[in-house]
Amino acid sequence: MDVRPRIRPGVVGRVRVALRLLAGLRAHDIRAARSYAKLMWRQHSVLRRLFLFIGWSLRQMFDVIPRALTSVTFADNVKRTPIWLDEDNPHADVPWRDGGQLPVHVDTVVIGAGFTGASCAYHWSKLGTAKSLAVLDMGDPATGASGRNEGVVVMGRYAAMVRDTVRPYLDATRMDLSKEDRSCLATQFATVYAQAAYRNADLVEETVEQEAFDCDYARNGWIQAREDEDQEALMTGVEFGRSVGAEDWTTLSPDEVLQLGGMQVDTPAGFSQASATFHPARWVWCLLGRALASEHVGLYTRTKVEQVDSLAEGYLVVTDRGSIRCRNIINATESYTAALHPHYSDLIHPVQTQAAFGEGGPADMPAEIALSGKRSFFGRHPFQNRPRGLLVGSDATRVKNHQAGRNAPSRFITSFSLAEVWRYYDQAPVTVTHEWSGTPGFTTDEYPVVGRLDGRDMWIIGGMCGSGTAVSFNGARHVVTRVLRIEDDRDDYPEAYFAPSRLLSPDRHRWPDIIREV
Ligand SMILES: Cc1cc2nc3c(=O)[nH]c(=O)nc-3n(C[C@H](O)[C@H](O)[C@H](O)COP(=O)(O)OP(=O)(O)OC[C@H]3O[C@@H](n4cnc5c(N)ncnc54)[C@H](O)[C@@H]3O)c2cc1C
Repeated sequence: MDVRPRIRPGVVGRVRVALRLLAGLRAHDIRAARSYAKLMWRQHSVLRRLFLFIGWSLRQMFDVIPRALTSVTFADNVKRTPIWLDEDNPHADVPWRDGGQLPVHVDTVVIGAGFTGASCAYHWSKLGTAKSLAVLDMGDPATGASGRNEGVVVMGRYAAMVRDTVRPYLDATRMDLSKEDRSCLATQFATVYAQAAYRNADLVEETVEQEAFDCDYARNGWIQAREDEDQEALMTGVEFGRSVGAEDWTTLSPDEVLQLGGMQVDTPAGFSQASATFHPARWVWCLLGRALASEHVGLYTRTKVEQVDSLAEGYLVVTDRGSIRCRNIINATESYTAALHPHYSDLIHPVQTQAAFGEGGPADMPAEIALSGKRSFFGRHPFQNRPRGLLVGSDATRVKNHQAGRNAPSRFITSFSLAEVWRYYDQAPVTVTHEWSGTPGFTTDEYPVVGRLDGRDMWIIGGMCGSGTAVSFNGARHVVTRVLRIEDDRDDYPEAYFAPSRLLSPDRHRWPDIIREV
């Protein structure tokens, strides 16, 4: 990568920045450093990784970040509020602000009011049922990961990535199969995932258009810069996608990258052609707004589910405001799932990711297109009533189950993410005003779970691995039609692939048949 001319601070300035960064380091930075080293130097021994990491961090501390920060100011009171939630939440404190009451009995309880829970409520309201649904959230809608993310409506993880993350799990759990059959199976998993995700993305677009949702939706793709050493993997990944019908993932030449994204790169970039951007919290609020027009859907914010008891028939959902009996439960709790259901703690684990927003940023970075480098994401969004700004972020570090939802961003990671932007754009003044973190939920094989959790009537949609926009809407449609026993000629989430038993009891899971010609 070409190192572009920029301001060089003096030795004293660099040492000052480095000391400030060192003083601000927390335990999470050490964990994040470990996951970064694993990601970047996977192929090396632990000792070599350590040396490479020490060299890298000294360069970051004393050179890259001090130079990057010459055009960055941190506001006096950087807010922990995600930029998306820095506006009025139309569903805050519902129904309590109007004197509402918790029901004692409903047909179905949805736990969680993020992308997934709001999507369940939306589909429920559209399916013409007279059965009742209660959506509960311990906060206000979209205050989990759904209101803290980057705002990219992804086409899902690209197929080769899905194949390569599923494969090690198959190697560990399907020793009964030959290597070739495990390879076929991994390809099948990737193919089925991509089909469901592509349909999900189209359903999101159709819904935004039909319902005229005011959520800044724009479908201009997602450019992902790739370096020299990544070119072979990029090309074979695109080829693999094509071979399984996942043709969204392609490449752009450096000229095209410059034209479309204003980014200066020396090598071809990956491009997800049909990805979109939106205001993620507004998407949730719009879905709920439509759903609540139905008399059969209720929203109960600031209501924490403390326990779920199985009854002979149905369930008792125990909350800090009282209990609700119901026939079905849908867990839309993503990274919080294990905190609520400790016996499923091996199912989904929280992974911390963070973002920051600053006013200013590169003049040649267009709005409404998703952008990222190898180690960070960035972009502009057309915020109404807000000065032009830049959103940046990075990190993917596992945290403990009880830390799901923690908002503890690292200043080092914000600085590092900003430095990454200057690899591709001319350095420009930025004033950082917001900095926050959140926790997407990850499964062991980085493949989502959509299906029955307990073999009875408790369901889950989760483990979307930082790509919640690719699964939540279609996944919710799938589960709601099953709960309501509505005839559905599509099965985008076949049990053989998506049922949680794949992870909870792989020995008893009904795995897909191997299709050898795939
Ligand atoms: C910095 C960052 C960037 C990201 N960027 C993107 C991106 O660009 N595109 C993308 O697709 N994804 C992105 N993600 C991931 C995405 O945000 C998640 O995949 C998605 O929000 C998951 O939606 P959800 O509704 O399932 O979970 P959440 O939004 O986490 O919702 C779960 C809800 O359940 C509630 N809850 C949990 N336990 C209980 C309980 N016991 N009682 C009551 N309520 C409970 C929580 O309060 C929460 O509101 C990003 C995440 C982060 C943090």
